[in-house]
Amino acid sequence: MDKITIIVPCYNEEETIPHFIKEADRVYEKMRESYGVSMEYLFVDDGSKDKTLKVLEKYAQENPRVSYITFSRNFGKEAAMLAGLENSDGDFTVIIDADLQDPPELIEEMYTTLKNDDEYDCVASRRFTRTGEPKIRSAFAKCFYKIMGKISKTEIVDGARDFRMMTRQMVDAIVSLKECNRFSKGIFSWVGFNTKWLEFENRERVSGTTKWSFWGLLLYAIDGFVAFSTAPLAIASVIGIVFCLIAFIGVCFVFVRALCFGDKVAGWPSMVCIMCFIAGIQLFCNGIIGIYLSKTYTETKKRPQYIAKKIHRCGDRKNG
Ligand code: UDP
Ligand code: MG
Repeated sequence: MDKITIIVPCYNEEETIPHFIKEADRVYEKMRESYGVSMEYLFVDDGSKDKTLKVLEKYAQENPRVSYITFSRNFGKEAAMLAGLENSDGDFTVIIDADLQDPPELIEEMYTTLKNDDEYDCVASRRFTRTGEPKIRSAFAKCFYKIMGKISKTEIVDGARDFRMMTRQMVDAIVSLKECNRFSKGIFSWVGFNTKWLEFENRERVSGTTKWSFWGLLLYAIDGFVAFSTAPLAIASVIGIVFCLIAFIGVCFVFVRALCFGDKVAGWPSMVCIMCFIAGIQLFCNGIIGIYLSKTYTETKKRPQYIAKKIHRCGDRKNG
């Protein structure tokens, strides 16, 4: 009998969890009848400030499939997914959002694909529309995937969700990566294995609001660039070389002009503008180096990526 562990990162999801469990139970009943699988819903309460934990405690008492891990504070979705993966003991592991934006009914298709087709180790999902999402967010997301495609060797698919089912072997490979600055979309691709993509239309959240601000997403995008490409460092050097060349040509021009027409002290305002411009470029390049340095700094500290306050596993009487 196969066990499927379903990891559900939750941050302030008190309203969505009941809807999620209802849908997940429906999928479970169907799959139990058809394939005789067992399931565990492993909720990771990422330091929620609302009643998420209370709701999980309540469901854990009445539903034998509900497990949860609760963090000492909010560590972010990446940490929540890692905690889920580290604690998953299923033959197959699914990561899914709590807000039902990822359709749980796809889990059955994911399972049959992995079971029947040895060729695949992962079945992942991707949205082919972004309807309902703010236009500016979609535009920036498109831009991010385009740049990432150009500067990184790790392929990051446009519209890919974290929603996927993976084999035990792939989960073990992901957990073996100990980096602190985690960017899962890149990690899933970096570990390799064969992935089949299922497409679905974008859905609105069942309830509650998104936890991502525009600023938060921008920082996450920078994390992605830094974690999976060193091209920005090379670009900084190229900008430096280009400006050296321009300066060299400029010096030659001024020197020849002074020889031919004499040296008139004029044009200082344009000189100030050029100096400011070059200082700006230098700071920009220093900033790029600074970002990599800061990531290296946090990486060397080797702090844990989350602190679990309580772990309750279904069927675990000690914690129940
Ligand atoms: N999430 C989390 N920690 C956070 C932010 C979000 O565990 O700090 C969870 C959230 O509860 C949800 C999933 O990550 O289950 C996706 O979050 P959200 O729906 O806000 O993102 P969006 O779908 O808008 O990208
Ligand atoms: Mg969502």
